[in-house]
Amino acid sequence: MPQIVRNVSQLREIVAGWKADGDAVGVVPTMGALHDGHLSLVRAARGDCARVIVTIFVNPKQFNAPADLLKYPRTEEADAALLAPLGVDVVFAPPIEEVYPSGFATTVSVSGISDPLEGAHRPGHFDGVATVVAKLFGMTAADRAYFGQKDWQQLQVVQRLVADLNLAVKITGCETIREADGLAMSSRNAQLSTDARACAPALHAAMQRAAAAIRGGAPVPLVMKAARAEVLDAGFDEVEYIELRSALMLERVSQLDGPVRMLAAAMIGGVRLIDNIAV
Ligand code: AMP
Repeated sequence: MPQIVRNVSQLREIVAGWKADGDAVGVVPTMGALHDGHLSLVRAARGDCARVIVTIFVNPKQFNAPADLLKYPRTEEADAALLAPLGVDVVFAPPIEEVYPSGFATTVSVSGISDPLEGAHRPGHFDGVATVVAKLFGMTAADRAYFGQKDWQQLQVVQRLVADLNLAVKITGCETIREADGLAMSSRNAQLSTDARACAPALHAAMQRAAAAIRGGAPVPLVMKAARAEVLDAGFDEVEYIELRSALMLERVSQLDGPVRMLAAAMIGGVRLIDNIAV
């Protein structure tokens, strides 16, 4: 089993020992309830770095809805068991007071890239993400950090943060891991009812069909409108957004010049699912 560490001073001591030996340190930040998507990041870290830290922290600052935070799954023992065979050195799972002690007063805010899409629908979300990620980099002193493309906008926010603050950590974005039926793996999938789980792959299917139509030259506004209708017809309750954007700056685009991404967020049975694909 990996060593479970709860406080920053102990973590720092361990990492200082590794660094004195010249070992590269990789970190995989997570909120736990681990699945194969998370494990793919751990494997990538393991491949590059002599030492690997997985952080498990359900960060209250990135939840804009208190009910969502309350029902977020917490499965630390099962998580540690999943990590054991992967050669993870340390699981850093701090209590809230260790991350946000009384008097905590700093917010890291990455403007521009944080504003549309998730930022528009989840006010404050990316401030919470940027703040905790900056802290986790400070706490772990990692040389490399691994994030999933599943959270595409988050990955761009983190890249911007690292560049702007000259943080000495190299970010790797790992591909989205999916269930056999195309549904992107997510800790939230466990909250889906049987019926909702059966409908959920329709989001990715509609996005793939829309991407193929756009690549084939169909007009973007019509295709995106049809994709939205398709997702709703399949049983989703609401489509918050389904849009075509430039891949790095996330600006609206209506044609394919340069790297383009399709991103979506939709609600089904009270569960919010997000996905994105290259077009
Ligand atoms: P979370 O625990 O949801 O905060 O996710 C922790 C990290 O795992 C983030 O960098 C996510 O982008 C990544 N991740 C979550 N789901 C997947 C997936 N299906 N494939 C690849 N990475 C993922």
